[in-house]
Amino acid sequence: MNLLYNHLSVNQDGHLAIGGMDTVDLAKQYGTPAYIMDEDAIRAMMRTYLDAAHTHFGADALPLYASKALCFTGIYRIAAEEGMGVDCVSGGELYTAKRAGFPAERIYFHGNNKTERDICDAMDMGVGTFVVDNTDELLSVESHAAARGITQRILLRITPGIDPHTHKAIVTGSVDSKFGSAIETGQAMEIVKLALAQPHIHLSGFHCHIGSQIFDTHPFSEAADIMVRFIASVKSECGMDVEELNLGGGLGVPYTEYDRPVDYAAAIKDMAAIVHGYCDTHGVKMPKVILEPGRSLVAAAGITLYTVGSVKEIPGFRTYVSVDGGMPDNPRYALYQSTYTALIANRPDAPRNCRVTVAGRCCESGDLIGEDMPLQEARRGDILAVLTTGAYNYAMASHYNRLPNPPVILVKDGAAKVAVKRESYEDLVRNDIL
Ligand SMILES: *Cc1c(COP(=O)(O)O)cnc(C)c1O
Repeated sequence: MNLLYNHLSVNQDGHLAIGGMDTVDLAKQYGTPAYIMDEDAIRAMMRTYLDAAHTHFGADALPLYASKALCFTGIYRIAAEEGMGVDCVSGGELYTAKRAGFPAERIYFHGNNKTERDICDAMDMGVGTFVVDNTDELLSVESHAAARGITQRILLRITPGIDPHTHKAIVTGSVDSKFGSAIETGQAMEIVKLALAQPHIHLSGFHCHIGSQIFDTHPFSEAADIMVRFIASVKSECGMDVEELNLGGGLGVPYTEYDRPVDYAAAIKDMAAIVHGYCDTHGVKMPKVILEPGRSLVAAAGITLYTVGSVKEIPGFRTYVSVDGGMPDNPRYALYQSTYTALIANRPDAPRNCRVTVAGRCCESGDLIGEDMPLQEARRGDILAVLTTGAYNYAMASHYNRLPNPPVILVKDGAAKVAVKRESYEDLVRNDIL
């Protein structure tokens, strides 16, 4: 069958392997459900972004890992070792980055509603750049910076007004959005003027992020055009030379054989050609460019292993294959009807000639990993692998039905190590005091 990615293979025993390691053995050793990640696949994607950004945007370009996609201390260490920046969106992500020793200067702090405490914590940590969403926040950042006697570098989040034709829950760049200030309404220019008037703020540039799981570079070039025009108008109205332009994240990844693979280096090359071109056309000096991929760095590297429990055929309707996890470890089908590829890891080469609904174990009919999925005939005790679960799975995990979160296991050079331990029942009651 089509395993989508090169780090997945079928080994001599006829089992699914990830990074050369047998998934059936991994399931035995670490139990299920478990997230398994190929560390080299993550590092390779980081290098692809770094190399392409430096080659096409210039030596000062910086790709950030959007760490909301998958957050634990080890991933910040990997990002730091590879020379990436990171984007954090909460006090919890900042704390995790700090615990991992990630250089604060290379952190960009996002979010549409940073709390006062988040702002203080981030400043105490020395976070390099705040990506300021709105006027309220701008004034709060100014007052906290003033209280500390520092000048805080910021970018302003700008809404370019683009519809990238993806799921509406993951569109972020249109005018009616909870994120940023829109150019169209004039609010973007107003907040620029307000920021320039603050004595403890250094406005270094602008940020936009148009959405996620985007396969086409066209929406990015449209956004780049709009942002470069905006930079030109800021120069002429305010005399400001924009130092930095952050084009956000959002490049897609294949989840099934029907999704087209993305050539990330080529996509970055295209974006760079377009940004250079628009800068020339609009008479704008090429800013330092920041990219902010999340999903495309980690999604493909990860798989989830489950053990098959009940297999229930409802004649004339469907077959339910139930697994020992579900929406608490992967809520993406429940949220967005996301598609996935599933296979029986102990016989991946058997024909996938069944159509099944893979169901979780929670008391919720919507607790599904997918409907109408092609799968080998499944039996109780089989190991079921769901591919491409590295992004927005562990990061979105909950404890619904009091299920402990699975571990995150990293495989590299023929060895596996636990990056995040499986939660115990004791962990679940740790904060229960009454
Ligand atoms: C989510 C997000 C990203 C990353 O998006 P991906 O689709 O995972 O690449 C980048 N920047 C911002 C501001 C985001 O909210």
